[in-house]
Amino acid sequence: MKTVDDFDFKNKKALIRVDFNVPLNEKNEVIDYTRIRSAKKTIQKVLNDGGAVVLMSHLGRPEGKESKYSLENIVSKVKKVLDTEIKFTEDCIGSKAFAASENLKMGEVLLLENLRFHKEEKEGDENFAKELARHGDIYVNDAFGTAHRAHASTAVIAKFFEEKCFGYLMTDEIENIDKALNSKEKPVTAILGGAKISSKITVIENILDNIDNLIIGGGMSYTFIKAQGGRIGNSLVQEEYENTALEILRKAEEKNVKVYLPKDAIVADEFAANANLHVEQIGSISEPWMGLDIGPATIKEFSEVIEKSKILLWNGPMGVFEFDNFSGGTKAIGLAVGEATQKGAFSLVGGGDSVAAVKKFNLGHKVSYISTGGGAMLEMLEGKTLPGIAAIA
Ligand code: AMP
Repeated sequence: MKTVDDFDFKNKKALIRVDFNVPLNEKNEVIDYTRIRSAKKTIQKVLNDGGAVVLMSHLGRPEGKESKYSLENIVSKVKKVLDTEIKFTEDCIGSKAFAASENLKMGEVLLLENLRFHKEEKEGDENFAKELARHGDIYVNDAFGTAHRAHASTAVIAKFFEEKCFGYLMTDEIENIDKALNSKEKPVTAILGGAKISSKITVIENILDNIDNLIIGGGMSYTFIKAQGGRIGNSLVQEEYENTALEILRKAEEKNVKVYLPKDAIVADEFAANANLHVEQIGSISEPWMGLDIGPATIKEFSEVIEKSKILLWNGPMGVFEFDNFSGGTKAIGLAVGEATQKGAFSLVGGGDSVAAVKKFNLGHKVSYISTGGGAMLEMLEGKTLPGIAAIA
């Protein structure tokens, strides 16, 4: 695996694919800098070597050129985070853009306009990738968040470079996921939650060989409870996956993986922040009630398993954590993961909603590693080779 440490960037232009797909508010202001901060180390390495940096990224899902998604909106933030001047071009290809990268002096940083203003980016168009390749001498991929996409700038472009490598963020992500999946330490516990079982099935099937405990919470747990004959009232369910759920439980037993499902729930009479609520035994929920969070007995059991674990992998909230009344389970599980980490466990958290939850409850510094790429991390856990990684490795 070639990394930026294998290259001396003196007098070289590094074309770095970063993931500056940052969340914006309605005034188009950046509300979370994590992804910009995460690219800093790689950029600094090139500049410290005496090289120049051309940055390219996408932002959002624009239909053509939409000013809301212009990377110009984030230039001042990138400047602030990187603590250096940033030049900007109004297009990522074309004569003006190429002149900007040709005239770039060593020590300088240029940011190209949103790659997705050209539909060829998502199509993985070869000609578009070849044009982009004109911007640099060495290609660096540091965009873990889009590594699962075979787009022009993330994968196709690599073939137009003799010299190519991963940035620090990319290597950190790969190493941490590998550490969670292939550690010799035991017990290994996966905590899965979130709304849908359908989006997590392949992950579960792939990790069963590597884990000792599987904790299932959140909306997805009700498909398991219903499949086992429990009453779930109006709780979220994917009935077409009930057989799959039973099959997962059977495979887990075969592989000696202990599965923990909720014992009780905080149920609500409607899907609302101020709904009436009470604690109910799992499997005894009647309409109109629905489970929106795990209950106290579940928190106790899950926390005990977590605190005895040496490796923890967490993806997906335990309940509707966006509503304060139903956020207690997710918070408690986050705290237990933090406790275990303090006692020496390695914890990896990933997936948009679990990261949002960790931030909401200020637990960021208490876990070992937070993945910046939800979809990319899930695909790695599914055992897939990501196009952005395969193109360089
Ligand atoms: P996912 O994208 O599949 O990881 O799901 C994340 C979403 O699942 C969050 O927005 C949560 O509010 C939601 N969620 C978690 N638990 C439940 C539940 N018991 N009922 C409905 N939605 C839930």
